[in-house]
Amino acid sequence: MPIRILPDDLVDQIAAGEVIERPASVVKELVENSLDAGARRVQIDVEQGGVGLIRVRDDGSGIDPGELALALARHATSKIRSQDDLGGVVTLGFRGEALPSMASVSRFRIVSCLRGAERGAEISVAGGAVTPVAPAPPVPGTTVEVRDLFYNVPARRKFVRSTATEIGAILRLVERLALARPEVAFRLRHGERILLETHAAAGTDPDPRATRIDAVLGPEFRAQAIPISASAGPVAVSGWIGAPTAARARADLQFCFVNGRPVRDRLLMNAVRLGYRDVLYHGRHPGYVLDLAIDPTRVDVNAHPQKLELRFRESREVHDFLFRAVERALAPSRRVEVMPLQSDALRIAEADPRGAFDWRALAPTPVGTGPAPRLDHAAPVANPGLGPPGSEHPLGRALAQLHGIYVLAETVDGLILVDMHAAHERVLYEQMKRNLDTGSIPTQRLLAPLSVALRPHEIDHVLESAADWERAGFELERLSPTELVVRAVPAALAREDLGALLRAAVADLETGDARHHLDGAAHRLLGTLACRAAIHAHRRLTLTEMDALLRQMEVTERADQCNHGRPTWARIGLKDLDRLFLRGR
Ligand code: ADP
Ligand code: MG
Repeated sequence: MPIRILPDDLVDQIAAGEVIERPASVVKELVENSLDAGARRVQIDVEQGGVGLIRVRDDGSGIDPGELALALARHATSKIRSQDDLGGVVTLGFRGEALPSMASVSRFRIVSCLRGAERGAEISVAGGAVTPVAPAPPVPGTTVEVRDLFYNVPARRKFVRSTATEIGAILRLVERLALARPEVAFRLRHGERILLETHAAAGTDPDPRATRIDAVLGPEFRAQAIPISASAGPVAVSGWIGAPTAARARADLQFCFVNGRPVRDRLLMNAVRLGYRDVLYHGRHPGYVLDLAIDPTRVDVNAHPQKLELRFRESREVHDFLFRAVERALAPSRRVEVMPLQSDALRIAEADPRGAFDWRALAPTPVGTGPAPRLDHAAPVANPGLGPPGSEHPLGRALAQLHGIYVLAETVDGLILVDMHAAHERVLYEQMKRNLDTGSIPTQRLLAPLSVALRPHEIDHVLESAADWERAGFELERLSPTELVVRAVPAALAREDLGALLRAAVADLETGDARHHLDGAAHRLLGTLACRAAIHAHRRLTLTEMDALLRQMEVTERADQCNHGRPTWARIGLKDLDRLFLRGR
């Protein structure tokens, strides 16, 4: 075939492939245009999952009738003029491709009127033919209609999924935009049904973002989330991050906005993930709504046709900033999540909404920074009698061990249940990690070196990460193909059955069964050791040992979850007990 320049309408269709993938992409481009036009109300009407009709109506600035035809031309935009502007884009659009792309793959109509103008204007496109601009009634704002999407591109049309799938994608998209702009009212309607309706934030609302989150995601999200707010130089982050124990099986509650633009940027998502690294149960995903504000000249939004990925000038710094901010917000988390309620009595109490347990009404737990004392299983200190439990101990005084698994403690205003293994595991892990981070793991040389029998490949595995074992406080050496000799261990583990501990830890690491969401080999090793060294079920504890555990939890960061992200303790207040027994009503 001879070389030829492609006809314009074919060029448009090819270009449309990049921005208009499915009905939700149309909604995205149209609503973003409305937001860029300063709209306060955006109404989206959809028929047949978006294939029949998508209509977006706004009360924004409108388009001058004289520019209406131009708005449909390729690379025509009012949002940037020069290379310089591209360096600091503050609008959602700027590439001037959306309208011509849509117009080339649908029956397209746009009606617009400038604010205060005496009349509006409209223009339509179908099958490559543009109608002349015609007058329209003076309704300020812009309405765009996209009908019969992909009617002339059968290849695309085939990729459109079921109505339910497409409308689901549209709903998620509108939710994202609604979360990004609390000051704008949104309404999404599919046929006769209103799928989403949010009001513009009232001027008197002290926290419009919170109100909008509750309206879009339901109040459950914030009820179990932790507020976050941090800034450093040109970047700031604010929003809510879900408690680790409320993590979900799917990553469907993750919202990130950069300068008001919804993004799904890998760098940012990884940073958040890393912030959760040792508090998340394996395979679970945290929920979050995060707003990142950054000097627009330090971020390139033109890295992706749909602008979901960004390029940061100082990507390392932005990543580390976000990671630390999330980690810090999670560290002192003092929440205990709602546990599945099992017994009938508890269910009765739960049935009455006002009588429901308030598991979250916790006495604040002081979070110390100093080194935690070792849990001393042997110290023969008497339990301080049966007086009222001291109010200086938020986790109270141990009363009993239940079923070899739980510690029951009495506090000034109720009782506490502790999962002793989970709690001890966290205490040990935080202790070892702190030492690792400060490079000062107290080690203990063994009087007689200990020989541990392992299989040859297991020994290989250990020696491959010899540096991590060393950093963690071990001194190890291969004695023979099946024997590892241990000369020193972290002091925290000195009293354990070291042979069994090492064999179990090596097996965990080998099978990748460590199941910790811990970052880096050294931390994974510590997590495994902590899990293996922590008191296991059915070990009898004395009251003194139980009290020692409670006191250590009180000074340990992240003591509310074990390394796998499960809660370590729960509280039942006196009020809850009173309610349970219908006292004082
Ligand atoms: P871009 O948004 O990248 O500028 P578009 O093709 O989406 O490109 O839109 C082209 C131009 O049409 C915009 O720059 C804007 O001037 C105008 N426009 C589109 N939609 C609207 C709207 N809802 N309200 C006001 N102006 C609009
Ligand atoms: Mg646009």
